Formats: sequence, C-alpha cells, structure tokens
Amino acid sequence: MNQMTNVKLEQFPYSDAAKKALARKPALFIDGEWVESTGGATLGVVDPSSGKEISRFVDATDADVDKAVAAARRAFDDGRWSDLPPIVREQIMHKLADILEAHADELAELEAIDNGKPKGMAGAIDVPGAISMIHYMAGWATKLGGEMIEPSATPRGLFHSYVRREPIGVAAQIVPWNFPLLMAVLKISPALAAGCTVILKPAEQTSLTALRLADFIQMAGIPAGVVNIITGNGHTAGDRLVRHPDVDKVAFTGSTEIGKVINRTATDSLKRVTLELGGKSPVIVLPDVDPKVAGPGTAQAIFFNSGQVCVAGSRLYAHKSVFDSVLENFVEASSFWQPRASLDPAGHMGPLVSDEQLARVMGYIEDGKKAGASVAIGGDTPESEGGYYVNPTVLVDVKPDMRVVREEIFGPVVVAQRFDDLDEVARQANDTSFGLAAGIWTKDLSAMHKLAAKLKAGTIWGNCHAMIDPALPFGGFKESGLGREQGRQGVEAYTELKSVIIQL
Ligand code: ADP
Repeated sequence: MNQMTNVKLEQFPYSDAAKKALARKPALFIDGEWVESTGGATLGVVDPSSGKEISRFVDATDADVDKAVAAARRAFDDGRWSDLPPIVREQIMHKLADILEAHADELAELEAIDNGKPKGMAGAIDVPGAISMIHYMAGWATKLGGEMIEPSATPRGLFHSYVRREPIGVAAQIVPWNFPLLMAVLKISPALAAGCTVILKPAEQTSLTALRLADFIQMAGIPAGVVNIITGNGHTAGDRLVRHPDVDKVAFTGSTEIGKVINRTATDSLKRVTLELGGKSPVIVLPDVDPKVAGPGTAQAIFFNSGQVCVAGSRLYAHKSVFDSVLENFVEASSFWQPRASLDPAGHMGPLVSDEQLARVMGYIEDGKKAGASVAIGGDTPESEGGYYVNPTVLVDVKPDMRVVREEIFGPVVVAQRFDDLDEVARQANDTSFGLAAGIWTKDLSAMHKLAAKLKAGTIWGNCHAMIDPALPFGGFKESGLGREQGRQGVEAYTELKSVIIQL
C-alpha cells in the first residue's frame, strides 16, 4: 500500500557556517562572556543522521552552575535589565529576533545536524516560530502592568491601594531536545519581557543552537548576566539549578517523569514552577470527513518531527464507518514521511534524536506486538550507515490497556482504533493520565464544540494539528504539566503580584 522508495540514508556535507559552529571551543556563556568550565568534562555532539560524533561541548560542574546563577542574581538585583525603560527592553528583544532572522539558514542547518530534523522543516517551522515568539513577547514588555483596587471593607477614601506586577527574579530554564532553539526562545522571551534574568540549560543531546543563541544575545546588546547559557547533563547541572537557593523560578519542558522530579525538588524552597510535560494526544475522526483530507492530516499529526513532539497525535480514533478509508489514505500519505538524512533537501522526516531514543521506540513497537497489536505499516528501521531511523509505523488491533496505547512513545508510531459514538470516543480519549492536546476532524460544528468541551486537554485542534501560536496559552491538564506558557498568561508566569495599602 505505501510506496517507500529506496533512499540512501547518508548525511549530506555541512556548510562552512555549520563547520565553524562545530569547531568552536567548548565554553559556557556566563555574565556576558564565553568562559571555560571549572572542570574538564565534555559531552559529544552526535549527528543522528550518521550516528557520528562531530563536536564536543561542556558538561557544566556545580561550580559552573553556581557562577551562572550568581551572575543572573547580580544582574537582576542591580536592575540593569528590569529597570531599563520597558520600550528599550522591547527594542532589544526585537533586535535579537532580527539577528536570528539574519542567521535563519545557519540555525536551520545546525538544528538539522544536531536534532536530526529535516533542514527544510527547521527552516519553515522552528526558526520562524522562534522569531515570532520573540517579537510577540517583546510587545508585552511595555504592556504588563498592575491594577488599582480599592479595599472592600473600609470606608472609601481612607486608604490608597494598588497591585504592582513585578518580575519574579532569577529564572532557571531547562529545555528538551525536540525543538531546541524554539524551546530555548519560548523560555527566555517571556522572562526577558517581564524583566527577569535567566540561566538556560539546553538538553545534552542538542546544545548547538542554544550556544549560537548566546552569540546573538551578546550582539543584540542584552546586558551581561541577563541571559546565561550553560550546557551539561540534566541529573547534575539541571538538578543543581533546580536546587539553587538563588533561583526564584524554574521553567521546564521535558518528560513527565523528570517534571515530577523537578517539581518535588523545587518544592523544598517553594520556587515558582512551570512544567510542560508529556502527552498521548488523541485525534478523533468523525464519520462526515473526507478521508482524503483526514488521512494525510492525521498522518502529519504523528509523523511531523518523527513523532518527537509532546502534542503528537499518537492515538487515532476513527469512526467505524470511515476507519478503513481513513487508514488507507493515512498509509498512502506515509510515503511523504519516509525517513531521510536531515540535510537531504527532499526530506520531511529525519532520524530520531539518539540511539537511546531509537532503542526506546523499537522497544515499544516490540512490546505492542507481543501484547497482540498488528503492524499495519512500518514497525522496522530502514537500512542506514549508523543513523537512528525508524519507518512511519501504524499499530492496529490494540487494546486500551496496552503500553503502546497508554504511554508516550515519542516516535513515529500511532495506534489506530475504531469508535461508534461521541460519548464513547470522548471517554476513550480521556482515559489517560495525560491531558496536553487533542484533535477533532469534522465539518459538524455542533459535534466539534461538544467534543471540544468534553476532552480534558490544554489545547484542542479542529481539522488541523500542532497549530501553536505565541498568543494562545499552551500547557497541559493532568500529568501533562503545570501552568501555561505563551500569551498573557505565559508572561505573567514570570511575575509576582504585590499589594500596596497606604492609609491616607
Ligand atoms: P527526555 O526524556 O525527552 O530526554 P528529559 O525530561 O529527560 O527528556 O530531559 C529534558 C531536559 O531536562 C534536559 O535538558 C535534561 O538535561 C533535563 N533534566 C533531566 N534530568 C534532570 C533533573 N533530574 N533535574 C533537572 N533537569 C533534568
């Protein structure tokens, strides 16, 4: 049914700009300068398209982390950023966005080399997404404000009272490897708009674009110490950040498992915490749909970014009357997602990020098969010279209690099921510990809105998937997270409220 062609899975040559970025000496960006680590440990950059190590970066020590936090603390406490006229902060942020735009091609290539995603996808989605996020959040610098509220239980005129909105302080921001630049920018932008200072830690699998971002932060004129970027392992450098007494807020995107660990650790000092965690998002196809539209649409919902997306539409529920035709069109569309090396201009889906992720995804597929699921397509890895490729995979004949249905696989694997009526599918869709997102495909407006209200998820998409915009709050119900990012709520999450009550 699906037409996979014979593609040589070999990485294409790197550009000179990428080679230059890969040749940089391992260093950390602390207090506006590139500094050597206090220890000698480094970690390898591996190109997932070839499995080869191509560069190294610092694995930060506790002393490095402490130095970065101290720099962020000083930069916050002396007001070098938060006391600037808000419009100046806004202008500097727009300048940062413009610098990113001027380096868009290099950033897209670095992301492709580091994460494995196709350069074309990074250039069409990750980089422009990061740029709009900065522009959008920059606008909030001049729009955040407090409120005048009169006391309720005293005669009028006795008190003057108001509520100030102030930056929280020093934010530790820990991001994952699936959208490295976009996630880094999504974290620093609201913090900067609110007047906070930051220590950002990219994932150990993907540090290249975060390090390049540090160069651009310097070029944009963001004062020293306002953004510090440290690389290294999560359980060491990340953990040190979360525990640090001088950190006021922790913002994390990553797995639910680590999110819970971070939340527990941060509780000791009652740090403010925002968590964007995992998902097992249902995609529901109602009987009225055109399978020629819903098939490719629901395939994109899972195969985009090799399924390494927290909102991936990993559970497909199609009404029994259209299940076969939707699946047929889905399978046909899968050839579009045939894995290719990340710098192959014809590619739409690359390898997985790491050998660890490859083993995990293949482990889930095997587990599903053992539990009785059938493989409709894929389920295997194409031949390559060491890259971490998995073919687009559809599992059918699944049962609600199978691990492949309940757990987040984070790979190009969908479980497809039939349903009969709306209440039944809403129940099935909500039968999960996650609640990040859900998709509904129908032209029946009434059914669309009814289902949108019933589904327990932070974002519901109708006739599309993964449409994420800086203006709309994003986050999870249940074990998919805590708090919201983006929009007004996203920037307010970097502020504290202070009531001032003065007797006149
Ligand atoms: P994944 O399972 O998708 O690799 P993780 O949740 O493990 O994602 O990692 C996301 C981010 O969290 C990475 O930057 C990683 O270094 C960091 N991290 C992992 N473990 C910890 C920890 N114990 N404390 C703080 N940060 C961590």
